[in-house]
Amino acid sequence: PRRPPEVPVLTRLSGLEPLNIGPGSLFVNVGERTNVTGSARFKRLILEGRYDEALEVARQQVQGGAQMIDVNMDEAMLDGVAAMRTFLNLAAAEPEIARVPVMIDSSRWEILEAGLQCIQGKGVVNSLSLKEGEEAFLRQARLVRRYGAAAVVMAFDERGQADTLERRIEICRRAYRLLTERAGFPPEDIIFDPNVFAIATGIPEHDRYAVDFIEATRWIKGHLPHALVSGGISNVSFSFRGNNAVREAIHAVFLYHAIQAGLDMGIVNAGQLAVYEELPAELRERVEDAVLARRPDAAERLLEIAERYKGQGGAARPQEDLAWRQWPVERRLEHALVHGIDTWIEEDTEEARRRAAHPLEVIEGPLMAGMNVVGDLFGAGKMFLPQVVKSARVMKKAVACLIPHIEAAQRAAGRKAERAGRIVLATVKGDVHDIGKNIVGVVLQCNGFEVIDLGVMVPAQRILDTARERQADAIGLSGLITPSLDEMVHVAKEMQRQGFTQPLLIGGATTSRAHTAVKIDPCYEGPVVWVKDASRAVGVVQSLLSEGLREGYLARLREEYEQLRRRHAVKGRRSLLPLEEARARRVPIDWSAYRPPRPAAPGVHTVEQDLGELVGYIDWGPFLHAWELGGPYPQVLEDPRKGPEARRLLAEARQMLERIVAEGWLRPRGVVGLFPANAVGDDVALYAGEDRRERLAVLHFLRQQAPKPADRPQRCLADYVAPRETGLADWMGAFAVAIHGAEERARAFEEAHDDFRAILLKALADRLAEAFAERLHQRVRMALWGYAPDEDLDNEALVAERYRGIRPAPGYPACPDHTEKATLWRLLQVEERAGIRLTESYAMWPPSAVSGWYFAHPEARYFAVGRIGRDQLEDYARRKGWEAAEAARWLASLLDEGPT
Ligand code: SAH
Repeated sequence: PRRPPEVPVLTRLSGLEPLNIGPGSLFVNVGERTNVTGSARFKRLILEGRYDEALEVARQQVQGGAQMIDVNMDEAMLDGVAAMRTFLNLAAAEPEIARVPVMIDSSRWEILEAGLQCIQGKGVVNSLSLKEGEEAFLRQARLVRRYGAAAVVMAFDERGQADTLERRIEICRRAYRLLTERAGFPPEDIIFDPNVFAIATGIPEHDRYAVDFIEATRWIKGHLPHALVSGGISNVSFSFRGNNAVREAIHAVFLYHAIQAGLDMGIVNAGQLAVYEELPAELRERVEDAVLARRPDAAERLLEIAERYKGQGGAARPQEDLAWRQWPVERRLEHALVHGIDTWIEEDTEEARRRAAHPLEVIEGPLMAGMNVVGDLFGAGKMFLPQVVKSARVMKKAVACLIPHIEAAQRAAGRKAERAGRIVLATVKGDVHDIGKNIVGVVLQCNGFEVIDLGVMVPAQRILDTARERQADAIGLSGLITPSLDEMVHVAKEMQRQGFTQPLLIGGATTSRAHTAVKIDPCYEGPVVWVKDASRAVGVVQSLLSEGLREGYLARLREEYEQLRRRHAVKGRRSLLPLEEARARRVPIDWSAYRPPRPAAPGVHTVEQDLGELVGYIDWGPFLHAWELGGPYPQVLEDPRKGPEARRLLAEARQMLERIVAEGWLRPRGVVGLFPANAVGDDVALYAGEDRRERLAVLHFLRQQAPKPADRPQRCLADYVAPRETGLADWMGAFAVAIHGAEERARAFEEAHDDFRAILLKALADRLAEAFAERLHQRVRMALWGYAPDEDLDNEALVAERYRGIRPAPGYPACPDHTEKATLWRLLQVEERAGIRLTESYAMWPPSAVSGWYFAHPEARYFAVGRIGRDQLEDYARRKGWEAAEAARWLASLLDEGPT
């Protein structure tokens, strides 16, 4: 006979996934923010019926590390039963939230019971108690058993809440016996809450609250087998409301000791927990005195220093040891710069200025010294971009305090600031992206360079005029889209023609070493240098502007570019397939076996999109990449070198996102259209009606001509649409989405010398735009086109593109002609419906925008068109109604070897 397996005694809870808690388990975080009594924001969202956003709070808790969420709807203005039902039912449809068990939190039985009727898996009731006597307690406990839940039992009886160690022990012992002996309650499903109360309130009777809780925990774990202990941690620090740094320190110390005593779980603000070891020594000691009631004046002594820590808040930043505040002002300034702390920068700068003979000495002395340390650490790979940008924020704030004094002193003495060099930066005409350029600017400033940033869409002549007037030592150009490459060539030619000699720096996503060597460098006799990323900028500029390094550096560069040009010339001679041959090897699709799905909602639709919903669709990998903390995501978070900074940056990004959503900083706008379509050669005709008589537009695509291995086709996007001659009624789609409002907000941050937040906000807006494209594509597949109504993919699967269909973007490798956006704009009335404009180079404004085509065929893949031949260029020009010269201009990067 089968021997029944021995099942270890564990507290077994579950949402969609199990959560088992036993002796070996780590501390379990229960998210506290979905609580109307604990979170003003959550309360407002629920009262206003904004459940979407309320769900977002839950989602963020789970993403922040909550393994369970506490849901509380106890609010006088609210129908608690209905609110609990609505929220839990909605949460059940969100796999990211429903993954974890729910702790239903209420002091009213009907709300608890309503919650029990909604949750799936095995949750926890919070809480039962003896306050109304044994009979009520047992009746409720039996009901909880019937619903199959575990229960938190508060140390509360007919006489009130236990507030001493003895009372806690007495009540917990009694409740345990009643539950196990009379209600048939498994002991592992009992979770005691021995009452967390506020300490350091100024009332001596409260001094032992924390330590008694800790001792009660120890007693329960030693005397009541299998029972767990939990607590609402934030209560303990209630008397320090408004001072998050101190509150988090109290939580950290309290948890540290309570967990050692056996605390199994706690209701906390997951994602905002400080680390005991990282607390500043002084603060930790005084908090510990208070938590453990080690001295009668502990509360007073904590209050004494609390003010100094205020405003530092956020576990996102490691707590600094504040001993440095006692140092001389020069060292304080340096320390603030290196650690990016702007809390005291204004007062410290002012103090240093008053001591200095000339305000400039403050910049040239301690500030530059600090920036040099930052530069060295960054150069040595010991500091990362987000930290450097925060250091720059400190520098800018300090300089802003000094400027009025410097100007006054200069007028008096006629002295000028010494600078390492002056650089003009600009995103070229027709292009709008500036995150990378802004980071480069900040990094250069951190290294003592003066940066004149002309912004985006800057015409060549304005760049050159500025460089001449301001006697710039170098010019830096940035660009994201391929037409910008041409514009950079134009700037180089103009520099030559107008007799410039300064170095020209080239950077941005679309640029490359090869393109710089082959196309830009030959146009200008002065040095032309490709700067791979922001972390290289300083090295390059220092080499170029230093007498000692310049010659050697340029000689190496000339050699390298020469080699690249030779290699390119060889590559250029490798043959392409004639266009006709390439066409004969199109993607082999058996159209006779295919039935094109007809969209559920053909035509053009303006898209309504909730901002908060997009947060769950964000792909964080590229976000970290923008800060040069790239790597496979999420593994990079565990990377020993980059991990800590990546995690910190992510936490700060999430904090800002929360405000963006809560305060409505940004507005998503989008438009989508689905049209009858058939391929005609390498073009696709879109039709006005399903009779397919009248053409709405013709889309032009390019085909790969570089020969592929025999078993691989020469691809063209038109291959994925049923050709006209098949007689099939196929379809195609198009979309454009944008996030509006980031530029204006970012400018306000810049004006407050806060480049860090300005760049962070723009980077987040870009992410939200991509998330919007992802979400809209999902809606198209599941509903509007509806060919995959039952698709069920989590965000990881979405990011990995495990769905049917693609959304190639005009200007990207499969359809590299940016000018096709003109057709897309006309088809969807993008400007009117989504507020997105095109520049003369077909860049989109606002910059946080994504547009593309939808192909639904299961065989559809992304690819790169790559090099094309003269024959295709001429054929394409004919189809587009262009002169060959115009085609050559727009497709320049394909005709020759494009950027690799
Ligand atoms: N999760 C990513 C999504 C953007 S990258 C993010 O948040 O950044 C993927 C998108 O880039 C595709 O959906 C498509 O729109 C575009 N893309 C990628 N490769 C492409 C190619 N070869 N041709 C055209 N578009 C491409």
